[in-house]
Amino acid sequence: MEKKNIYMIQPNYLYGKSAHLPYAAGTIVAFAWNNVDILDNYELKKIQFLRENIDEVVTQAENPFLIGFSTYMWNFEYNKALAKRFKEIYPNCIILFGGHHVGPGDELLKSFDFIDILIHGEGEEPFTQVLLSYLGKMSLCDIPNLSYHENDKTVGTGYKAYNYCDYPSPYLEGYFDHFFTDHPELDFMFLFETNRGCAYDCSYCDWGSLKTKIRQFPMERIRKEFEWATNNKIEFFGCADANFGILARDETIIDLLIDFKNITGYPQKFQTSYAKNNSERIFNIGKRLDDNNMNKGVTLAFQTLSPVAAENVGRSNISIMHYTHLMKMYNAAKIPTYTELILGLPGETYESFANGINQLIKAGQHHSIYIHNCEWLPCSTMGSKEYMDKFKISTTFIPLNQPHMESPKGDEIPEYSQIVTKTYTMDNSMWIDMNILSYTVQCFHHMNLLQFFAIYLYSEKNIEYIDFYERLLNYMAHNPATVCGQVFGKILQMLQDVISGTGSLVYYDERFGDVAWPLEEYAFLEIVYNHDKFYDEIIEFLTSFSIPADVLKDLLLYQRNMIKIPNNSFTAFETTYNFHNYFIDMFKGNKGKLIKQKSFITVNDNDNFENWEDYARFVVWYGRKESKNIYTDSVAIKEQ
Ligand code: SF4
Repeated sequence: MEKKNIYMIQPNYLYGKSAHLPYAAGTIVAFAWNNVDILDNYELKKIQFLRENIDEVVTQAENPFLIGFSTYMWNFEYNKALAKRFKEIYPNCIILFGGHHVGPGDELLKSFDFIDILIHGEGEEPFTQVLLSYLGKMSLCDIPNLSYHENDKTVGTGYKAYNYCDYPSPYLEGYFDHFFTDHPELDFMFLFETNRGCAYDCSYCDWGSLKTKIRQFPMERIRKEFEWATNNKIEFFGCADANFGILARDETIIDLLIDFKNITGYPQKFQTSYAKNNSERIFNIGKRLDDNNMNKGVTLAFQTLSPVAAENVGRSNISIMHYTHLMKMYNAAKIPTYTELILGLPGETYESFANGINQLIKAGQHHSIYIHNCEWLPCSTMGSKEYMDKFKISTTFIPLNQPHMESPKGDEIPEYSQIVTKTYTMDNSMWIDMNILSYTVQCFHHMNLLQFFAIYLYSEKNIEYIDFYERLLNYMAHNPATVCGQVFGKILQMLQDVISGTGSLVYYDERFGDVAWPLEEYAFLEIVYNHDKFYDEIIEFLTSFSIPADVLKDLLLYQRNMIKIPNNSFTAFETTYNFHNYFIDMFKGNKGKLIKQKSFITVNDNDNFENWEDYARFVVWYGRKESKNIYTDSVAIKEQ
């Protein structure tokens, strides 16, 4: 008997030359085709992972019986357009949508009549059962977690949480092997799970709302997947666990990964979401990764420091005292960390947001703060009408807010993100103020452009960090023709455009490659592009702090020379104060002692980039979490 043809669609953008392996679609097919009835009756024709031309995809398809779409915000519009075209050409083919962008309920079925079936939540078991139902082995109505059309109505089956986790691996079953020969031009990114589920339920997140307990994948599967990925020379490993480091065995997993790196040279980088209540275990993991040059930064997560907002989103954070202690530990061990905040959580105000940033920097977070706008996700608790009504949440659509993806080309179908721009404690103009402050702090402090001044002024003159950056904002607003005034004027306009429905939170600039830059990184690049002019102009602002003239001159020299720039493999300069050691002490969490002491500083930059595109990619994009935008390790100092 002729087998029925199945197509799986999980397209994503490219990130430079890098592509994500379609792990979600892969896990589903690996589980389904493990079933002998499915193996005998269905043929998997293709797993599509790129945003291919829709007409060509449909034309090349051979009599599709069922097409499964794995959807999230980065492919939702593309998937809908492709599904619609398939249905027009093949009216009898079954269109199934699953993935994080399929919210609870039947809204998608009602809005888009070309969709036949929705899978809510995890897909392995219901997808397999749907295929079995078309062999007469079971009925759709007996399969949990589905919505589907039946006789001009929609039917929803009940919710079931899955306890099973020993699913076959798509890597080990060979579903992606041919990608490497079909696409030698691409670098693939390897995504893996060591466990699935989350113990928490943060209202903005669509993982916790699945309410599944943590289930562990077998260690042997994890080891074999590492072997597969290292055999395929994959440089980047991303762990998709919700809380890596929450289980004792995660230290063993990291040791395994390090062993692979030491034997094979792969992976070169590892990234994950660490458990939110950072522990000694996570410190040990970060240290081992760092010792082996594999650390992309350890998360010290907060999301908000406002107790009201934290309560509203169901999150309990570590105390700021504990955070300060952790920062000291990580800084002393020179392990890069980053702290994430979410802008726009209900209960947050400008004051609480600004105060939160100030507290984090005072606690020693000089490396990296990533501030994300709160995205509205249909499967999150925040996605429900009750929650939105309760906290008076309004959202705005913007072009897909995915940093570092390549630009949409020609007639590319645009994708969108939906961000929170209003809550019961934040109106639109406050949203703009919070964003512009966030970009200012990230660009000038955590990407170091004026960081040494901010630290000096806090330490020597008790000027709060946030006061320094608010004054800088004021200066830029009143000096729109300066380098920084122009950049931040442009950003302000983009934010106002977002509110009026036409703006974006990413910026493309050919000088820096075909990459979507988050606005703080774009601002940094534009200012460094005009490095000398910026530092010549900013003296006017810095003199307003009554810094002694010799200190100001010296500190400015130090500040401008420590910012890494392209085509600059050697720098030498002399300061009359001990600024270098002063700041090294500060970064370790100690109070630095500023003394007049001649210091000869030489920088030999072995990691120098000759063009702006490489600089932007390797220093700003890849290197931001490790503070690669200042000279650190390559600095030698001689004091007199
Ligand atoms: S944000 Fe993290 S901890 Fe909170 S529900 Fe999502 S995955 Fe779990």
